[in-house]
Amino acid sequence: MEIANKVFIVTGGASGLGAGTVRMLVQNGAKVVIADVQDEPGEALAKELGQRYVHCDVTQEADGKNAVAAAKELGALFGLVNCAGVAPAAKIVGKNGAHPLDLFQKVVSINLIGSFNMMRLAAEAMSANSPEPTGERGVMINTASVAAFDGQIGQAAYAASKAGVAGMTLPIARDLAKTGIRCMTIAPGIFGTPMIFGMPQEVQDSLAASIPFPARLGRPEDYAKLVHSIITNDMLNGETIRLDGAIRMPP
Ligand code: NAD
Repeated sequence: MEIANKVFIVTGGASGLGAGTVRMLVQNGAKVVIADVQDEPGEALAKELGQRYVHCDVTQEADGKNAVAAAKELGALFGLVNCAGVAPAAKIVGKNGAHPLDLFQKVVSINLIGSFNMMRLAAEAMSANSPEPTGERGVMINTASVAAFDGQIGQAAYAASKAGVAGMTLPIARDLAKTGIRCMTIAPGIFGTPMIFGMPQEVQDSLAASIPFPARLGRPEDYAKLVHSIITNDMLNGETIRLDGAIRMPP
Protein backbone atom coordinates (compact mmCIF):
# COMPACT_ATOMS: atom_id res chain seq x y z
CA MET A 1 0.00 0.00 0.00
CA GLU A 2 1.49 3.30 -1.14
CA ILE A 3 0.87 6.48 0.85
CA ALA A 4 1.91 8.79 -2.00
CA ASN A 5 -0.97 10.78 -3.52
CA LYS A 6 -3.52 9.33 -1.12
CA VAL A 7 -5.83 11.74 0.74
CA PHE A 8 -5.99 11.74 4.54
CA ILE A 9 -7.81 13.62 7.27
CA VAL A 10 -5.91 14.04 10.54
CA THR A 11 -8.05 15.28 13.43
CA GLY A 12 -6.13 17.06 16.16
CA GLY A 13 -3.58 17.62 13.40
CA ALA A 14 -2.55 21.07 14.64
CA SER A 15 -0.53 19.73 17.58
CA GLY A 16 1.39 16.86 19.13
CA LEU A 17 0.81 13.35 17.77
CA GLY A 18 -1.54 14.63 15.07
CA ALA A 19 0.98 17.18 13.79
CA GLY A 20 3.71 14.50 13.76
CA THR A 21 1.39 12.30 11.72
CA VAL A 22 0.65 15.12 9.27
CA ARG A 23 4.40 15.63 8.74
CA MET A 24 4.99 11.91 8.16
CA LEU A 25 2.13 11.66 5.67
CA VAL A 26 3.29 14.71 3.72
CA GLN A 27 6.90 13.41 3.68
CA ASN A 28 5.48 10.27 2.08
CA GLY A 29 3.65 12.24 -0.61
CA ALA A 30 0.11 12.21 0.81
CA LYS A 31 -2.40 15.06 0.61
CA VAL A 32 -3.67 15.97 4.06
CA VAL A 33 -6.60 17.85 5.56
CA ILE A 34 -5.64 19.06 9.02
CA ALA A 35 -8.86 19.12 11.08
CA ASP A 36 -8.68 20.86 14.44
CA VAL A 37 -10.18 23.59 16.59
CA GLN A 38 -6.86 25.39 17.11
CA ASP A 39 -7.00 27.53 14.00
CA GLU A 40 -3.73 29.45 14.32
CA PRO A 41 -1.30 26.52 14.63
CA GLY A 42 -3.44 24.47 12.25
CA GLU A 43 -3.31 27.14 9.55
CA ALA A 44 0.43 27.67 10.15
CA LEU A 45 1.22 23.95 9.76
CA ALA A 46 -0.96 23.69 6.66
CA LYS A 47 0.82 26.70 5.14
CA GLU A 48 4.27 25.34 5.99
CA LEU A 49 3.50 21.96 4.39
CA GLY A 50 1.33 23.20 1.52
CA GLN A 51 -1.74 21.35 2.84
CA ARG A 52 -5.32 22.22 3.77
CA TYR A 53 -6.60 23.28 7.21
CA VAL A 54 -10.26 22.99 8.17
CA HIS A 55 -11.76 24.19 11.44
CA CYS A 56 -13.43 21.01 12.66
CA ASP A 57 -14.83 20.32 16.10
CA VAL A 58 -15.04 16.52 15.93
CA THR A 59 -18.16 16.51 18.10
CA GLN A 60 -20.10 18.40 15.43
CA GLU A 61 -21.64 16.50 12.53
CA ALA A 62 -21.55 19.56 10.24
CA ASP A 63 -17.84 20.14 10.95
CA GLY A 64 -17.06 16.50 10.23
CA LYS A 65 -18.92 16.73 6.93
CA ASN A 66 -16.95 19.87 6.04
CA ALA A 67 -13.66 18.05 6.67
CA VAL A 68 -14.73 15.13 4.49
CA ALA A 69 -15.89 17.54 1.76
CA ALA A 70 -12.51 19.34 1.90
CA ALA A 71 -10.72 16.01 1.56
CA LYS A 72 -12.86 15.01 -1.43
CA GLU A 73 -11.74 18.20 -3.19
CA LEU A 74 -8.20 16.76 -3.07
CA GLY A 75 -9.24 13.32 -4.37
CA ALA A 76 -10.79 10.15 -2.95
CA LEU A 77 -10.53 10.08 0.86
CA PHE A 78 -8.35 7.09 1.75
CA GLY A 79 -7.36 7.60 5.37
CA LEU A 80 -8.56 9.04 8.67
CA VAL A 81 -6.28 9.44 11.67
CA ASN A 82 -8.23 10.46 14.77
CA CYS A 83 -5.86 12.29 17.13
CA ALA A 84 -8.21 14.95 18.53
CA GLY A 85 -8.50 14.54 22.26
CA VAL A 86 -8.54 16.18 25.68
CA ALA A 87 -7.33 14.85 29.04
CA PRO A 88 -8.56 16.94 31.97
CA ALA A 89 -8.16 15.20 35.33
CA ALA A 90 -10.72 15.23 38.14
CA LYS A 91 -11.27 13.06 41.20
CA ILE A 92 -14.64 11.45 41.89
CA VAL A 93 -14.85 13.61 45.01
CA GLY A 94 -12.43 16.54 45.00
CA LYS A 95 -11.90 19.85 46.79
CA ASN A 96 -14.91 21.32 44.99
CA GLY A 97 -17.21 18.36 45.51
CA ALA A 98 -18.33 15.59 43.16
CA HIS A 99 -16.74 15.09 39.75
CA PRO A 100 -18.51 17.58 37.46
CA LEU A 101 -20.94 15.64 35.27
CA ASP A 102 -20.47 18.06 32.39
CA LEU A 103 -16.71 17.45 32.44
CA PHE A 104 -17.27 13.70 32.13
CA GLN A 105 -19.70 14.29 29.27
CA LYS A 106 -17.29 16.66 27.53
CA VAL A 107 -14.38 14.20 27.63
CA VAL A 108 -16.51 11.32 26.36
CA SER A 109 -18.04 13.59 23.74
CA ILE A 110 -14.69 14.67 22.26
CA ASN A 111 -12.57 11.55 22.73
CA LEU A 112 -15.12 8.83 22.03
CA ILE A 113 -18.17 10.23 20.28
CA GLY A 114 -16.01 12.67 18.27
CA SER A 115 -13.85 9.78 17.03
CA PHE A 116 -16.98 7.82 16.11
CA ASN A 117 -18.51 10.83 14.35
CA MET A 118 -15.45 11.20 12.13
CA MET A 119 -15.21 7.46 11.46
CA ARG A 120 -18.79 7.03 10.30
CA LEU A 121 -18.50 10.03 7.94
CA ALA A 122 -15.09 8.95 6.62
CA ALA A 123 -16.25 5.34 6.15
CA GLU A 124 -19.27 6.54 4.19
CA ALA A 125 -16.96 8.45 1.82
CA MET A 126 -14.39 5.63 1.60
CA SER A 127 -17.02 3.02 0.79
CA ALA A 128 -17.64 4.84 -2.53
CA ASN A 129 -13.93 4.56 -3.51
CA SER A 130 -12.72 2.32 -6.30
CA PRO A 131 -10.85 -0.49 -4.55
CA GLU A 132 -7.06 -0.77 -4.65
CA PRO A 133 -5.69 -3.91 -6.33
CA THR A 134 -5.67 -5.43 -2.83
CA GLY A 135 -9.40 -4.73 -2.45
CA GLU A 136 -8.70 -1.99 0.07
CA ARG A 137 -10.81 1.19 0.08
CA GLY A 138 -9.45 2.97 3.12
CA VAL A 139 -8.00 2.84 6.61
CA MET A 140 -9.03 4.53 9.84
CA ILE A 141 -6.75 4.85 12.86
CA ASN A 142 -7.94 6.00 16.28
CA THR A 143 -5.96 7.10 19.28
CA ALA A 144 -6.84 5.50 22.61
CA SER A 145 -4.39 5.49 25.55
CA VAL A 146 -2.87 3.01 27.98
CA ALA A 147 -5.34 4.64 30.40
CA ALA A 148 -7.97 2.49 28.65
CA PHE A 149 -6.43 -0.54 30.41
CA ASP A 150 -4.57 1.02 33.35
CA GLY A 151 -6.35 4.21 34.35
CA GLN A 152 -4.94 6.31 37.14
CA ILE A 153 -6.67 8.32 39.89
CA GLY A 154 -8.36 11.34 38.29
CA GLN A 155 -8.68 9.62 34.90
CA ALA A 156 -12.20 8.16 35.20
CA ALA A 157 -13.59 10.17 32.29
CA TYR A 158 -10.45 9.91 30.18
CA ALA A 159 -9.99 6.18 30.77
CA ALA A 160 -13.67 5.51 30.06
CA SER A 161 -13.53 7.48 26.82
CA LYS A 162 -10.36 5.72 25.66
CA ALA A 163 -11.67 2.26 26.65
CA GLY A 164 -14.65 3.11 24.45
CA VAL A 165 -12.34 3.95 21.55
CA ALA A 166 -10.50 0.64 21.95
CA GLY A 167 -13.80 -1.21 22.34
CA MET A 168 -15.42 0.07 19.16
CA THR A 169 -12.40 -0.76 16.99
CA LEU A 170 -13.00 -4.49 16.46
CA PRO A 171 -16.75 -4.35 15.80
CA ILE A 172 -16.27 -1.51 13.31
CA ALA A 173 -13.40 -3.36 11.61
CA ARG A 174 -15.59 -6.47 11.32
CA ASP A 175 -18.52 -4.44 10.06
CA LEU A 176 -16.45 -2.72 7.35
CA ALA A 177 -14.27 -5.67 6.35
CA LYS A 178 -16.49 -6.59 3.42
CA THR A 179 -16.07 -3.01 2.13
CA GLY A 180 -12.27 -3.14 2.29
CA ILE A 181 -11.96 -0.49 5.00
CA ARG A 182 -9.70 -1.27 7.94
CA CYS A 183 -9.99 0.15 11.45
CA MET A 184 -7.14 0.17 13.96
CA THR A 185 -6.41 1.91 17.26
CA ILE A 186 -3.11 2.97 18.80
CA ALA A 187 -2.93 3.18 22.60
CA PRO A 188 0.01 5.47 23.38
CA GLY A 189 1.78 5.54 26.74
CA ILE A 190 3.36 8.88 27.60
CA PHE A 191 4.36 11.16 24.75
CA GLY A 192 6.10 14.52 24.84
CA THR A 193 3.34 16.77 23.49
CA PRO A 194 1.55 19.89 24.78
CA MET A 195 -0.89 17.52 26.58
CA ILE A 196 2.01 16.38 28.79
CA PHE A 197 4.12 19.55 28.74
CA GLY A 198 1.19 21.28 30.50
CA MET A 199 1.76 19.12 33.60
CA PRO A 200 4.03 20.09 36.53
CA GLN A 201 7.69 19.16 35.86
CA GLU A 202 7.79 16.63 38.72
CA VAL A 203 4.81 14.82 37.22
CA GLN A 204 6.49 14.78 33.79
CA ASP A 205 9.71 13.44 35.35
CA SER A 206 7.90 10.66 37.18
CA LEU A 207 6.01 9.73 34.01
CA ALA A 208 9.26 9.56 32.01
CA ALA A 209 10.81 7.42 34.77
CA SER A 210 7.96 4.93 34.39
CA ILE A 211 9.10 3.94 30.87
CA PRO A 212 11.71 1.18 31.34
CA PHE A 213 12.87 1.15 27.75
CA PRO A 214 13.64 3.28 25.77
CA ALA A 215 13.65 5.28 29.06
CA ARG A 216 12.34 8.47 27.51
CA LEU A 217 9.00 10.00 26.66
CA GLY A 218 7.53 8.93 23.35
CA ARG A 219 7.91 11.34 20.45
CA PRO A 220 5.35 12.26 17.80
CA GLU A 221 7.67 10.56 15.26
CA ASP A 222 7.35 7.27 17.20
CA TYR A 223 3.59 7.50 16.90
CA ALA A 224 3.77 8.49 13.22
CA LYS A 225 5.99 5.46 12.45
CA LEU A 226 3.28 3.16 13.77
CA VAL A 227 0.65 5.01 11.74
CA HIS A 228 2.86 4.43 8.67
CA SER A 229 3.14 0.72 9.49
CA ILE A 230 -0.62 0.37 9.93
CA ILE A 231 -1.39 2.11 6.65
CA THR A 232 1.10 0.01 4.70
CA ASN A 233 0.31 -3.40 6.27
CA ASP A 234 -3.19 -4.53 5.40
CA MET A 235 -3.02 -7.53 7.73
CA LEU A 236 -3.37 -5.08 10.63
CA ASN A 237 -7.10 -4.78 11.25
CA GLY A 238 -9.37 -4.56 14.28
CA GLU A 239 -6.49 -4.35 16.78
CA THR A 240 -5.62 -1.92 19.54
CA ILE A 241 -1.82 -1.70 19.74
CA ARG A 242 -0.07 -0.35 22.82
CA LEU A 243 2.82 1.99 22.03
CA ASP A 244 4.27 2.60 25.44
CA GLY A 245 7.82 1.28 26.00
CA ALA A 246 6.42 -1.30 28.48
CA ILE A 247 5.30 1.53 30.75
CA ARG A 248 4.63 0.82 34.41
CA MET A 249 2.81 3.75 35.97
CA PRO A 250 4.00 4.93 39.39
CA PRO A 251 1.67 3.76 42.22
P1 NAD B 1 -2.30 17.72 21.97
O1 NAD B 1 -3.04 18.49 23.01
O2 NAD B 1 -0.96 18.18 21.53
O3 NAD B 1 -3.22 17.55 20.67
C1 NAD B 1 -4.59 17.32 20.75
C2 NAD B 1 -5.25 18.12 19.63
O4 NAD B 1 -6.65 17.83 19.65
C3 NAD B 1 -5.09 19.64 19.78
O5 NAD B 1 -4.58 20.22 18.59
C4 NAD B 1 -6.51 20.10 20.06
O6 NAD B 1 -6.80 21.40 19.56
C5 NAD B 1 -7.30 19.03 19.34
N1 NAD B 1 -8.70 18.98 19.80
C6 NAD B 1 -9.17 19.02 21.08
N2 NAD B 1 -10.51 19.00 21.07
C7 NAD B 1 -10.90 18.94 19.78
C8 NAD B 1 -12.15 18.90 19.12
N3 NAD B 1 -13.31 18.92 19.81
N4 NAD B 1 -12.18 18.84 17.77
C9 NAD B 1 -11.03 18.83 17.05
N5 NAD B 1 -9.80 18.88 17.61
C10 NAD B 1 -9.75 18.94 18.96
O7 NAD B 1 -2.22 16.25 22.56
P2 NAD B 1 -1.55 14.91 21.99
O8 NAD B 1 -0.70 14.39 23.07
O9 NAD B 1 -1.00 15.10 20.64
O10 NAD B 1 -2.84 14.00 21.94
C11 NAD B 1 -3.28 13.37 20.73
C12 NAD B 1 -4.13 12.18 21.11
O11 NAD B 1 -3.29 11.23 21.76
C13 NAD B 1 -5.26 12.49 22.09
O12 NAD B 1 -6.39 11.74 21.74
C14 NAD B 1 -4.71 12.00 23.41
O13 NAD B 1 -5.72 11.65 24.32
C15 NAD B 1 -3.89 10.81 22.97
N6 NAD B 1 -2.85 10.41 23.89
C16 NAD B 1 -1.81 11.22 24.20
C17 NAD B 1 -0.84 10.79 25.08
C18 NAD B 1 0.33 11.63 25.47
O14 NAD B 1 1.08 11.21 26.37
N7 NAD B 1 0.58 12.78 24.85
C19 NAD B 1 -0.95 9.52 25.66
C20 NAD B 1 -2.03 8.72 25.33
C21 NAD B 1 -2.97 9.16 24.43
